[in-house]
Amino acid sequence: MTMYICDDGNAPLEIAADSPSEAAEEYVTGGDWGNHAETIWINVQVREKGTDQQTWVKVPVDPEEPACDDPDGHNWQSPHEVVGGLEENPGVFSSGGGAKKITVCARCGTYRIWDGWATDPEDGEQGLESVSYRDADQKSLAWVEGF
Ligand SMILES: [Zn+2]
Repeated sequence: MTMYICDDGNAPLEIAADSPSEAAEEYVTGGDWGNHAETIWINVQVREKGTDQQTWVKVPVDPEEPACDDPDGHNWQSPHEVVGGLEENPGVFSSGGGAKKITVCARCGTYRIWDGWATDPEDGEQGLESVSYRDADQKSLAWVEGF
């Protein structure tokens, strides 16, 4: 174990871990990052205590998954009539240098959007993965009814 000082710019914290990335993960897991509708990225400066050795680690924090109306939880599907796109590859759209995939829950109609080419607004890094959710709408609810 090594002692690291982790800092997102607001709250430095000493954490014992085996590696800078492990220390950063623990730093982010223990933090409160508030409510956010999409994945956010915490850029953590990790310095080995007593040295000048430091590195930056980017840790994604996904939004909390909204609860499903069904006690069994969400059942993510890609029905073409709801999510659109190509018939042979429903719900998949190009996004920058990657792809975006839309799925919808067959039980409550909530949408889940996965983006394989997201950008961290803080430092402009591209090609990251993000997740967001959208409330059910008439189209998805009508499909759920007939599922
Ligand atoms: Zn659901």
